[in-house]
Amino acid sequence: MVGKELFCSMSVDQPVGILKGVGAVVGQHLSRLGIITVGDLLEHFPRRYEDRSQLKSIREIVAGQVATFAAVVERGEVQRVRGKSLARVWVSDETGRAVLVWFNQPYRAKTWKSGTRLIVCGKATKYRDAVQIESAEVDLADELDTLNTARIVPIYPLTQGIGSRALRKLIAEAIEQPIARQEALPLSVLQQHRLMPRQQALREIHFPADWTAMQQAKRRIVFEELFLLQCALAFLRKQRVEERRSFAHGEDGELIRQLRQRLPFELTRDQEQAYGEIRDDMERDRPMHRLLQGDVGSGKTAVALLALAKTIENRQQGILMVPTEILAEQHFQSCCDLMSGIGIRCALLTGRVKGKKRAELLQQISYGTVDLVIGTQALIQPDVQFNQVGLVVVDEQHRFGVAQRANLQAKGDAPHTLVMSATPIPRTMALTLYGDLDISAIRQLPPGRKPVVTAVRSGEAAREKVYRFLAEEVAAGRQGYVVCPLVEDSEKTEAQSAVSIFEELTATALEGLACGLLHGRMNAEEKEAVMRRFVLGQLSVLVSTTVIEVGINVPNATMMIVEDADRFGLAQLHQLRGRVGRGSERSYCVLLHDGCAAAAPERLQVLAQTTDGFVVAERDLVLRGPGQFLGYRQHGLPEMKMASLADDAAILEDARQAGFRLMQNQTEAAKLLPYLKERFERFFGIMFAG
Ligand code: ADP
Ligand code: MG
Repeated sequence: MVGKELFCSMSVDQPVGILKGVGAVVGQHLSRLGIITVGDLLEHFPRRYEDRSQLKSIREIVAGQVATFAAVVERGEVQRVRGKSLARVWVSDETGRAVLVWFNQPYRAKTWKSGTRLIVCGKATKYRDAVQIESAEVDLADELDTLNTARIVPIYPLTQGIGSRALRKLIAEAIEQPIARQEALPLSVLQQHRLMPRQQALREIHFPADWTAMQQAKRRIVFEELFLLQCALAFLRKQRVEERRSFAHGEDGELIRQLRQRLPFELTRDQEQAYGEIRDDMERDRPMHRLLQGDVGSGKTAVALLALAKTIENRQQGILMVPTEILAEQHFQSCCDLMSGIGIRCALLTGRVKGKKRAELLQQISYGTVDLVIGTQALIQPDVQFNQVGLVVVDEQHRFGVAQRANLQAKGDAPHTLVMSATPIPRTMALTLYGDLDISAIRQLPPGRKPVVTAVRSGEAAREKVYRFLAEEVAAGRQGYVVCPLVEDSEKTEAQSAVSIFEELTATALEGLACGLLHGRMNAEEKEAVMRRFVLGQLSVLVSTTVIEVGINVPNATMMIVEDADRFGLAQLHQLRGRVGRGSERSYCVLLHDGCAAAAPERLQVLAQTTDGFVVAERDLVLRGPGQFLGYRQHGLPEMKMASLADDAAILEDARQAGFRLMQNQTEAAKLLPYLKERFERFFGIMFAG
């Protein structure tokens, strides 16, 4: 039963030291497992279980199998065998005898008096005619609560110095502490979703009575994890959207009509839908916080430009922030024609704009004589003041942290915000990572796009052929990318491998071609310079690590070769592939692998089969799990203890609904808030500081 006082009465978590049997040494060992408090210990969940609940008789035991049986101790003995001590304990039941053996643990022979009833579990071998069990797990049969045998037994991630038995004992003790009863879920939620109370769930997850109980406990714990996160997101949203007022735009007018006319194409249905959602948000007096997701080339810019024109039509300023100077310049050039033709005054602000020119520009921006400012992080410098910001658009959102987004928003008085991402992510992940935002998606590409021809190849002969093909493309006046292997966690090794591939290729397959090299060890200016030469067509081939810009547009680039493609995630490969296929010529993407990793070709084939980024993302999530998915850990996705974004989609939907509903209720929200702040402080940083 859950008492009212338990719903988030903050029972303070205590250090593991309060448990019996945790002294300094054990404490040290536990801390290596990340366990500092009793609460941590409770959330040290089993990696798997062993079913030791079926007791056998000794006669039924088969050599080579793990068996659990009850037996009585006959006698113990210690022998020395080649310098080692060998402890033997003979046990029996009505059907036969067995011998338990331990090496170098002589005390085992004297642990139990004869006649003691034991429950024994271990892998059986034969010793002469008797059953032999080496290093068995043993419980006293008379102890009411066996933890190690005669039940479904938890198997934990371990560290040196602390064994399963010790850990089980500590966890069993922890489950009886007050913190285990601290109920984070309101009674109404427990009842509506038929969830176990917390303490019971902890008991059943660690020491399940049976598999059904374990499954139910797991559901409860997953629900709690997702629910609390959704509550935190609901709170952030409330703070930033519902409790703030912003400028309510009027209906679309003449300027929007003119811009639509000037666009050299009709918007696709998805683009129209996305713009419609944005327009509706902007016409309300609550700040929009919307994510626009769409594959590279799906036409997000046109949607953003309509929204920017809308704010300008309403005498507000628009901001478009992108991650690099080159992207800013590209956007500026392509937007300018379109926008200045209908009387919109545009400006470009990057780190390259300096001195007097910058001072003048800042003045224009602050007087409001500029309507649309396109730029990089340079936009969030403190001395950049705007007159009246109506809409902030952040392109390639995943490159900017939450803090940068917040800084930019602070440039206006609760401006409407649109963040755009070319990384389609599965819904479960979006609800977690961007759960405080509304989401629009463009799924269809504009008509007439030729899909990039994608092939998976291995072997030296194939590799040579592929590079010959690249040289032919270059001879025909086109450009290409070579992507070097991803080296996890080591920019240095990655750069070295890029350098050696560059040297190899320029001495062989690409000899005589204008090749450039790009890697993460180069400074920003060097990188920009190389990129610029490629954009201008002065370089034919760009040999690069994954640092090539996401949104960069070089329509003349028709081929991409990815070395050791099996090291990349599918979503990441899909992103890379998006840099080709932007012009009218047919484009190619070849994924090379060495054929060693058994599952590689099959995984890579997904890319040959589909060009839909959302499909790729779903497959990647299932195949590799969210931790690997584009390295999202760095992007502030809270680490999940039990929930899986690949498997728990249904629970997530329920938990989100319940969480958002709960946070609407002032009293309940107030109760939960201190707990949320403590729990999620690390993930939401500044957002929770207030
Ligand atoms: P992204 O979503 O990657 O930012 P862009 O906005 O750069 O994509 O659009 C990619 C290309 O598609 C651009 O050249 C753009 O002019 C073109 N485009 C966008 N929308 C359409 C459309 N509805 N019909 C035809 N071409 C379009
Ligand atoms: Mg773009």
